[in-house]
Amino acid sequence: MNRRRFILSSTAIAASLTTGIIYWPNRWHYIVVHHSAGKFGTIKFLQQVHRERQQGDPVDAIPYHYVIGNGNGLKMGEVASDWRQKNHIWGAHVSGRNTDRNFRGIGICLIGNFEEHTVPEAQYMALLALTKNLMLEFAIPLSNITGHGHTQGESTHCPGEHFPMPRFMKDLI
Ligand SMILES: [Zn+2]
Repeated sequence: MNRRRFILSSTAIAASLTTGIIYWPNRWHYIVVHHSAGKFGTIKFLQQVHRERQQGDPVDAIPYHYVIGNGNGLKMGEVASDWRQKNHIWGAHVSGRNTDRNFRGIGICLIGNFEEHTVPEAQYMALLALTKNLMLEFAIPLSNITGHGHTQGESTHCPGEHFPMPRFMKDLI
């Protein structure tokens, strides 16, 4: 093989490996639950927030894979996503200390601030249904489902002190 062909073929191999890693759609191994800590949420709004807060992320999309509305912006219990989820791109929803949870973790964000109030029942039921479906689809064990702040290495109150984590764990069994 001459040098030029070698360079071309190794570039092609590296590109396909990279693409494979980024787009490998069945790699999902964790689910991390978040709250938006705000009263209002739409995909567009969260994209804008992400642009401002995480300027180092090359992916111009919401940092999560799914958002669940609270009736203010998105409908109550409405599940929405953008191209990050549709293309199976890694998340940007936990810190750099947990690269594997970003890379193989599905981020679900509930609109609302559960430091201030409880989770509306309809929104909770939508989260439960979505999480159960994802657990089945990707064979994700219960032990790999966490709240953001309940994830080892993370220091945040997200998804808020009123998020019913014990109930959520029980309902997922
Ligand atoms: Zn969070």
